[in-house]
Amino acid sequence: MSRLPDGVMREARIDVGAISDNVRHLRRLTDSEIIAVVKADGYGHGAVRSAFAALQGGATRIGVADVAEALALRRAGVLAPILAWLHPPGASFAEAVAAEIELGISSIDQLLAAGAAASADRPVAVHLKIETGLSRNGIAPQELRVVFAEAARLERLGRVRVVGLFSHLSNTSREDDLAALAVFQEGVIAAAAAGLNPPLRHIAATHAAISLPETRMGCVRIGIGLYGVSPFADRSAADLGLRPAMTLRAAVAAVRRVPAGTGVSYGYTYRTAADTTLALVPLGYADGVPRQASSRGPVQIGGRRFTVAGRIAMDQFVVDVGDIPVAVGDEAVLFGDPTLGVPAASEWADAADTIDYDIVTGIGPRVPRRQVTG
Ligand SMILES: *Cc1c(COP(=O)(O)O)cnc(C)c1O
Repeated sequence: MSRLPDGVMREARIDVGAISDNVRHLRRLTDSEIIAVVKADGYGHGAVRSAFAALQGGATRIGVADVAEALALRRAGVLAPILAWLHPPGASFAEAVAAEIELGISSIDQLLAAGAAASADRPVAVHLKIETGLSRNGIAPQELRVVFAEAARLERLGRVRVVGLFSHLSNTSREDDLAALAVFQEGVIAAAAAGLNPPLRHIAATHAAISLPETRMGCVRIGIGLYGVSPFADRSAADLGLRPAMTLRAAVAAVRRVPAGTGVSYGYTYRTAADTTLALVPLGYADGVPRQASSRGPVQIGGRRFTVAGRIAMDQFVVDVGDIPVAVGDEAVLFGDPTLGVPAASEWADAADTIDYDIVTGIGPRVPRRQVTG
């Protein structure tokens, strides 16, 4: 039985080797340049370590949502191109330009702000985002002409370099995604007519990069796949040749023997059916263990699978282990690599009626990340 190091109550073990391997695998599979998406602290895995591991595996670029995330990566020594694509109104982009962050541009206002922050000595690299159906950000079809013309003008002035055109897919169906791709291709033609021929075009995230080769265009943005989590409901990470990078585990904090009929946790929503042993696991919803998975989430202790008994509380939950000998300090694994016999993050997602993106990204800052190379 594996134990946590002495004095460690809970941890998320992050296998950076898995991240590098997942990138290698997806690079071969897609035959495309990989923009490794490490937003939201690398989907909970740590943005800096995830970025370095992805670059190690052959990713050439990094993607994040916010400029602040991009700046933090630069400060940590990430030298690869970093693209940030979600900006507040009135963003000035001065810091981004100084740090040579590439900007995803979704409106004329953003383009003008980027151009104003740049100079011929310090041009800003931009990727123009075309709205193709997701109804989030992106330049609307009726605004394309104006934005492309201004981008071409700023490019001629040497203030802006348009290095990419991009969009994002809804993953609704093959037909919907191909329709979005067609809208995108019209945008590419309109850009060329305005004199823009950027080297990069990218529309596929992990789902389309794997399942819809037409969308690859030689460059894909891979987020969830980096971390060895499947974006498909009906295909596991192992089915895709990916290895989960995160294992969430804790040391059993207390064990008590109780009689039949004992109420467990807030609201006594669980009562023991017989004399039994209860084990206390020191992870709760403050740590991102979803309260919605109360009485449903899977836990492996001592090589056996159990289910959460009763409510998941802020810091802890209880497991009814029956007559199985469990001791304080034993390892309780909530999820990890299911090919090793432990539950998958997707089982927690099912238990909480959400997606595994939400599970790994939601693991809170109180859980120390321990980096390993497996
Ligand atoms: C989050 C995000 C991605 C990565 O998506 P995955 O499904 O995790 O691969 C790619 N592009 C954009 C615009 C995103 O917001």
